[in-house]
Amino acid sequence: MLADSIAELRAAVRDVPDFPKAGIVFKDITPILSNGKLFQASIDVFLEQCRGKEIDKIVGIDARGFLFGSAVAYELGVGFVPLRKKGRLPYKTESAKYSLEYGEAEMELHIDAIEDGERIVLIDDLLATGGTSASAATLIKKVGGVLVEAQFLIELEFLHGREKLATIPVVSFLKY
Ligand code: AMP
Repeated sequence: MLADSIAELRAAVRDVPDFPKAGIVFKDITPILSNGKLFQASIDVFLEQCRGKEIDKIVGIDARGFLFGSAVAYELGVGFVPLRKKGRLPYKTESAKYSLEYGEAEMELHIDAIEDGERIVLIDDLLATGGTSASAATLIKKVGGVLVEAQFLIELEFLHGREKLATIPVVSFLKY
């Protein structure tokens, strides 16, 4: 059942060459989002992976991590925390700079979004070089959270992003 879903999800991911710049093959997940059955299937694979982990909150990464992360949090009945690009969060933040496959950026988290010791699962659509998730992990720890696992729909294994996450368990469903 889950294996069928994974195969269907994989078939729906669209490769867009040279986006957002030359040499990058962008993994477009919008065909999954726009298909009700596939969107449900994508949330179900995350939910299955969250089972038994006693999670307090989901942290989703700006912006596609919000789409998957918030649906997973809703189903689990736990809080959702947005990790946003610099300048988007209105209240006091902790911030961390990082580099990605195609540029540089800075992520921010509200200082009071996570209570001390809360068990967190980090969710994003894709793990590439791991810079974004590593800075997310740093920020979650800084505000007192315990990062239980980082989950990604897609992993570009050839970029070895999970090495940047060191001791944090990393799970992905579609590997390239
Ligand atoms: P990284 O920090 O290199 O692991 O980059 C991960 C972030 O950038 C994720 O939020 C992804 O949505 C986005 N990203 C990086 N590379 C790609 C790609 N080839 N296709 C789609 N999204 C990407």
